[in-house]
Amino acid sequence: MAGTALKVLQAHALELGPQPHDSGPWTNWRLTRDSDGVAWLLLDKAGSSANVLSADVLGEFEAVLAEIENNRPSGLVIRSAKTSGFIAGADITEFTSMRDPIAVEERLDKAHGLFDRLDRLKLPTVAVIHGFCLGGGLELALACDHRIAVDGARFGFPEVLLGLHPGLGGTFRSLALLNPLTAMDMMLTGRTLDARKAKAAGLVDLVTEERHVRAAAKAAIGGTLKAKRPSSLTSSALNLPPVRRMVASRMRRQAEAKAPSAFYPAPYALITLWERFGNDPRILRREEVRSFARLIASDAAQNLIRVFLLRETLKKLAGREHHVHHVHVIGAGAMGGDIAAWCAWQGLSVTLADVSPKPLGAAVKRASALFEKIGRKRTDIRHALDRLTPDLVGSGVAHADIVIEAAPEKLELKRKIFADIEPRMKPTAILATNTSSIPLQELREGLARPERLVGVHFFNPVSRMQLVEVVTHDRLDPEVEAAARAFVGQIDRLPAPVKSAPGFLVNRALTPYLFEAMLLVGEGMKPEEVDEAAERFGMPVGPVELADQVGLDICVSVLEELRAGLDWPVPAVPDWLTTKVAEGDLGRKTGKGFYEWKDGQAVKNKVDAEPSQETTDRLILPMVNMCMACLREGIVANEDIVDAAMIFGTGFAPFLGGPMHYARMRSSSELQARMNALANEHGERFRPDPGWKTFGATAPDTPHPEPA
Ligand code: NAD
Repeated sequence: MAGTALKVLQAHALELGPQPHDSGPWTNWRLTRDSDGVAWLLLDKAGSSANVLSADVLGEFEAVLAEIENNRPSGLVIRSAKTSGFIAGADITEFTSMRDPIAVEERLDKAHGLFDRLDRLKLPTVAVIHGFCLGGGLELALACDHRIAVDGARFGFPEVLLGLHPGLGGTFRSLALLNPLTAMDMMLTGRTLDARKAKAAGLVDLVTEERHVRAAAKAAIGGTLKAKRPSSLTSSALNLPPVRRMVASRMRRQAEAKAPSAFYPAPYALITLWERFGNDPRILRREEVRSFARLIASDAAQNLIRVFLLRETLKKLAGREHHVHHVHVIGAGAMGGDIAAWCAWQGLSVTLADVSPKPLGAAVKRASALFEKIGRKRTDIRHALDRLTPDLVGSGVAHADIVIEAAPEKLELKRKIFADIEPRMKPTAILATNTSSIPLQELREGLARPERLVGVHFFNPVSRMQLVEVVTHDRLDPEVEAAARAFVGQIDRLPAPVKSAPGFLVNRALTPYLFEAMLLVGEGMKPEEVDEAAERFGMPVGPVELADQVGLDICVSVLEELRAGLDWPVPAVPDWLTTKVAEGDLGRKTGKGFYEWKDGQAVKNKVDAEPSQETTDRLILPMVNMCMACLREGIVANEDIVDAAMIFGTGFAPFLGGPMHYARMRSSSELQARMNALANEHGERFRPDPGWKTFGATAPDTPHPEPA
């Protein structure tokens, strides 16, 4: 579809012919006029595959508007020349420097002025939208009289995910156009609407195919395109202040359940804006600017912006070259089955092998349930299932571009599997293992081509955990490593390169956190109190509940492995925990661990007591300390990858920007003093890693991934 859009755009430009005096002297915008006197304005941000509203794009837009005002056409059509879509939003890399609310207000006022000028043009204006239309892009489209969507377009306000709300008129323009509940839902959740839903909501006037765009735009300009607007009855009712107050308090309760106001202020700021000024667009415009400026200068928003840029950094590590067509997965258990399903969902041909038909059948059943849950169209679900082939004899090995071994965690078994498949693999294929703990230096023994073995360490559940550790070793061919990262990107996961060492990064950092939680319970704290301390810090799930989810037997065995493989002064597993595991109280999978489990949920009591800073520090600091050890030992290349891996692999409080960023905000000298005090009181496991000594002396770069 997108390719067609571009061809039509190019054809259109050709049809108009080159008109240098008309297209203007701009780098990012092209303005042409057709024989009917309609101006066609194309946005084509220089040097970028997607359009963003960067300072230079907005600067030029001012000149474009002046040209249109001075030389008034009969109508204006705004489009994107990019195949990727209309406009992806603001240029988020510019947000990192916005720490002064007054300066931000000035900048926003200026940009608002431009959108107001577009809104007030005394001629019909039409935004024609293909692909994505997000944030500032949607706000620009809302300042036009008409919006025409090309089939497949998507609309959304993702600002809330960055700790913000719309800041270029999105609040009052969407509230004026849509049912306020729909507008608020879009802004509060960041959810996107497809073209059909956008039409039903009244956000766009028409959904059409690319070949009809020209006629549709002309109809809009000629006044013959009549848009259906949502009923004004609901909007009027919601404009009554008591009704807004009541609805706002319900919205606050719903928001609190998802994103506590102490960590994520943006949704609450937006609800307050609507509650107080929802019936007065003029005041709402002014207050939107003030509120946005306050939010963007806050630590929460700056840290969430950091998370966005960290994601882009990992995406960049994946690159854009995709060469995998066929994946062969060995072992259809908890991980292999889910990896196979996910790869099939992402469009790859997958063969899945195991030693008996039973796990294969169970894996296909799970895949089917997953596709039903995440799929929108029946055909997508059917095609994904068609791509997933159970392969008891392993004939897929010979055709695969990557073979992923996900057999039980036993060195000899994995070596035996490698010996069997390596001679049958294509010479160009990647041999990957999902091992969570066996060193690749040991696994590669006996391979004819050890340089082609790489770790791809997925997390459970594969469909929800975005991170994949790409595990390297000293004999790995760099091209194979790059190809493994690209494969991870190809299946819409984020690759974090780590060196093969006990626990790699994520499990190594998570284990002291889980173990300390168990020790606290052993000292007499209630599991709920321990979990509450971590959740109040900002972790998505408390460590006791997480340990129950992972399985206490697995937690204990990872702990033992790390203790054996690392110089880590951690106490022995207490007898009561060994007994618990021996008696089969393993957590969710057996219905009982630290908690009772019912219908997949831990049965928890409410906690009244405030968690102490001591408890929080005992949980969090050992995890941060392990991250530092991984950094100092060179297991991970830099702080950004540590932070990204911990956020996308464990859910480490995103609004804190990652463990290393948290350490910087709290200051390394304060952290070291605190860890020394804890070490003196509770044991050497808290002693600060030597890496902290030089940590404060170096300032990291802000992640600044190249534009996509
Ligand atoms: P599992 O026991 O659920 O599944 C292993 C599957 O491999 C079983 O279906 C078994 O029948 C099959 N198998 C055994 N021998 C085989 C052979 N010779 N050829 C083909 N299949 C064979 O194990 P799992 O939890 O899926 O773990 C698999 C790997 O993934 C392990 O290396 C583990 O460390 C790693 N891992 C597990 C998790 C997790 O949360 N479970 C997370 C990350 C990584």
